[in-house]
Amino acid sequence: MAKANESGSPCNRIVLKFGTSLLTGGTKQLNPDVMSRLVAQVAQLQGQGKEILIVSSGAIAAGRHKLGISKRIKGIPYKQVLASVGQSRLMYTYEQLFDEHNITVAQALLTRADLCDRAGYLNARNTLLALLELGVICIINENDVVAIEEIEGARFGDNDNLSAMVANLVDADLLAILTDIGGLYTADPRQNPDARLIPEVSTVDEALFRLASGSKSGLGTGGMVTKLEAARVATACGVTVVIANGNEPDVVRRLAAGEAVGTRFLPARSKLESRERWLLSGLSTKGKLVVDAGAAAALKKQNSSLLAAGILEVEGHFQRGDVVNIFDPEGARLGSGMINYSSEDVWKIKGVHSRKIASLLGYDYGDEVIHRNNLVIV
Ligand code: GLU
Repeated sequence: MAKANESGSPCNRIVLKFGTSLLTGGTKQLNPDVMSRLVAQVAQLQGQGKEILIVSSGAIAAGRHKLGISKRIKGIPYKQVLASVGQSRLMYTYEQLFDEHNITVAQALLTRADLCDRAGYLNARNTLLALLELGVICIINENDVVAIEEIEGARFGDNDNLSAMVANLVDADLLAILTDIGGLYTADPRQNPDARLIPEVSTVDEALFRLASGSKSGLGTGGMVTKLEAARVATACGVTVVIANGNEPDVVRRLAAGEAVGTRFLPARSKLESRERWLLSGLSTKGKLVVDAGAAAALKKQNSSLLAAGILEVEGHFQRGDVVNIFDPEGARLGSGMINYSSEDVWKIKGVHSRKIASLLGYDYGDEVIHRNNLVIV
C-alpha cells in the first residue's frame, strides 16, 4: 500500500470529481476503459506520494443500465432507486480496477446536510483524513437515497457542489472537476466554432454565471453552472479549482504537476489563512480550555494533539465539533481547535490518561480531545 505524503507541498492533496458523462464515455453505462485510465493515473500519483480523494458520480447511470431501463423516467424517488441499485456496481468497478494496482478503496456516502452539521462535519473530516493517512483511496458520492431536494436550495444529485465541500473539508490543494468538456468557454464550443477556452479565472463573478447559464448556447447543459458554484465555494476557502476534460491524455498527472489544462480558478486566499481565520475568528467559539505547562509546550513546539491528561480547566458549554479556545496556565491564548468531546465529557476526562476515556464515558472518540489536524496555534 502506498504511503501518504506528509510534506504538505503544493498540490499534494487532490480531490478529483468524475462526472457521469465522463465515466460513461457518452454511453448509457459505465465505461470500464475510461475508468481504468483514470484509475491508473490516480494509482501513479499515489505512488508519488500524492493524497487523492475521488468524488464519483455514475451510480444512477449504473443503476439504470442494470435495471435495463432505457427511457428517462423523471422524479426524485425514482432516481434514488436507481442510485441505490447502481452505487454498489459503481464501487465494485472501482474496487476491481484499483485492485490491479494493489490499492484499497473505501466508500463514503455523504449528504451536504451532514457536512453542515458540526458533528457530521468533524466525523467526516476525521474519517477522510485517517483514510488518507492509511493510503486508502476514498470514493465519495452523495448519499442519494436520503438526500432531499429542499436542503438549503441545493439541487438533488449535484456532485459538483459536494466535491467543493469535500475539498474544503479536507483542506485540499486542488479540486479537479473532470467532465467531457475542456473547461469554461466564451460560448458553447459544440455550437459555436468561435468559442474560446478561458484558461484562467481569478474571480467567479456574476458575469461568469451569466456566461454559463444565460445564453441559449447550451453551455448550461454541460452543468457549467454547478461547476462554477463549486469553484466559487472552493476557491473562497483557498482551494485551486480546475475544470477540464477527463479524457485528455494523462490529465490527472498533468494537473497535479500544475500544468495548464482546462480552466483554472485561482484561490481567493491561502487555504491555511482561510482555515486559521475560521478557527481563530471566534465566530463559532463555544468554550475555553486551560492546559498545563507540559501540554502548552507540546502544542506550541511539537505540533501535537491535545490529550485529556493536559487539560486543567473547562469553561462554557460546547458539543463535539464546536470550536474552543485554548489557554496556558498563565492565561495566554495558545490557539483554537475543533473539539472531539462535549464540555460535559471534558469535565469527566480532564487530567486523566487517554486509556481511561472509554471507561469514564462509556464511549471513546479517540485519544485526542483536539486532534492536531483540527488545531491552530497562534
Ligand atoms: N450522485 C449521482 C450519481 O452517482 C450523480 C450526481 C451528479 O452528477 O451531480 O449518479
